[in-house]
Amino acid sequence: MIELPAPDPAILQRRAEIAAALTRIVPDGVIADNATLTAYDRDAMAAYSQIPLLCVLPTDADQVSAVLAYAARENIRIVPRGAGTSLSGGALPLADGILLGLSRMNRILEVDLENRCAVVQPGVTNASVTRAVQAAGFYYAPDPSSQIACTIGGNIAENSGGIHCLKYGLTTQNLMGVEFVLMNGERLRLGGKHAGDGGLDLLSVVCGSEGLLGVVTEATLRILPRPPVTRTMLIAFDTVRAAGETVAAIIAAGIIPAALEFMDRRCIATVEAFCAPGYPPDAEAILIAEIDGMPAEVADDMRRLMEIAHGLGATSIRDCADEAQRARVWSGRKAAFGAMGRLEPDMLCMDGTIPRRALPDVLDKIASYAEHYGLVCCNVFHAGDGNLHPLIVFDCMRPGELERAEAFGADILKLCVAMGGVLTGEHGIGVEKKALMGEMFSPSDLAQQERLKCAFDGQSLLNPGKVFPTLHACVELGRMHVQAGRLPFGNLPRM
Ligand SMILES: Cc1cc2nc3c(=O)[nH]c(=O)nc-3n(C[C@H](O)[C@H](O)[C@H](O)COP(=O)(O)OP(=O)(O)OC[C@H]3O[C@@H](n4cnc5c(N)ncnc54)[C@H](O)[C@@H]3O)c2cc1C
Repeated sequence: MIELPAPDPAILQRRAEIAAALTRIVPDGVIADNATLTAYDRDAMAAYSQIPLLCVLPTDADQVSAVLAYAARENIRIVPRGAGTSLSGGALPLADGILLGLSRMNRILEVDLENRCAVVQPGVTNASVTRAVQAAGFYYAPDPSSQIACTIGGNIAENSGGIHCLKYGLTTQNLMGVEFVLMNGERLRLGGKHAGDGGLDLLSVVCGSEGLLGVVTEATLRILPRPPVTRTMLIAFDTVRAAGETVAAIIAAGIIPAALEFMDRRCIATVEAFCAPGYPPDAEAILIAEIDGMPAEVADDMRRLMEIAHGLGATSIRDCADEAQRARVWSGRKAAFGAMGRLEPDMLCMDGTIPRRALPDVLDKIASYAEHYGLVCCNVFHAGDGNLHPLIVFDCMRPGELERAEAFGADILKLCVAMGGVLTGEHGIGVEKKALMGEMFSPSDLAQQERLKCAFDGQSLLNPGKVFPTLHACVELGRMHVQAGRLPFGNLPRM
């Protein structure tokens, strides 16, 4: 079960006054009626919901800054939100918190081809960055499967990845700069169009900070020229182990595919029934491999990749000859999460990362856990990065099933850490995995991370209850902001 900070009754009582103050800052963007607030009561970790105190939808950085400064003065918690597609509960509201929705800040401010970048507001969707530059032959590489909906602000906060991150990196490798508003309303500029930066690398700290350190109000994104040739192959295997071994062998051979994705039999069947991408029906596992670059390089990599796959037992290899076939193959992969709705109404999407070599053993273990918990699990994931996405499907209306699904998911993530991996590859810790942080970090590691949080947000008002397994007031870490004699988190026992 997920624990969030207990709501402060004094804040709950002041709701009307807070709504009035926010309306003075954002006259046309405050939502206070419960019926409309319900639309914001959860993100894509849909098993958990909470109606926020209020929702405010600013349209520019001045308004964001004024909202944060007001909330800091009044000791009110803030939860930033982009499109609400987080799978780890990062945008789950708080009963006494203002939900700060960035979706109206959705303008592409500049396309600068000379400096190969685009400057965008945080509510711009991931897919619209590529749309804005594709006519000039460029694209934005990080491509989460949620890209038609998720926002750049959310991508930065989660350090999101996608199918093509194996070769081109996650958000952090494609982020050149941000404007960032601190909880006290102060605005920082980190990075920019130039290469490199002086001082400490705070841009890397901000990327992946899950809305805990400040609010992104502008981003400068690296855009890349479209490679002249892209080829996609659909490779079938009659054992999961052979597919896993092929992944490790491709990387060991020095080939870096643009994408290397895996799906197991149950996932193939479910996706096929959902959107008919034409996957081989009798395969135990498939790999979708994509190679891009200059024609000679692509031809050579494809030849070597096919040799490896055949040598390790591939039962068929389909080379997608044209753009339509390629799009069809990818449509199945991109729809895989949604397709799970055909099996059960609820789903937990795990996101552990493991060393590639461990893939076959970890998949065997996950199958044995599924049997133990009596639940169905489909595997679809970014195999090239060893970033697993076991999809546990269940029905939370069946008593005990949510708890079993969560215990199953926790076992998978503990296994990932035990195999030398990590708790999250791209979806963030949020509320979903915070109880497992101790599996990966020592108490000193965690205290140091929390001190960093305090350096940005001394009152612990930004997205509290996420990422860290226990709530600490900054005083326990050597710092605390006391305002009007009130301690932050007065409801917590002091150590
Ligand atoms: C079907 C589906 C497929 C997905 N596929 C992928 C995938 O392939 N790869 C991947 O990495 N993820 C994937 N995701 C997860 C999700 O889309 C990403 O985490 C995405 O980056 C979240 O963006 P968002 O705009 O929806 O952010 P939200 O869900 O609204 O928020 C996510 C986090 O970011 C914070 N935040 C949002 N905006 C800001 C801001 N401007 N400043 C500071 N903090 C902010 C929030 O507080 C929260 O902690 C998928 C999700 C779904 C539902």
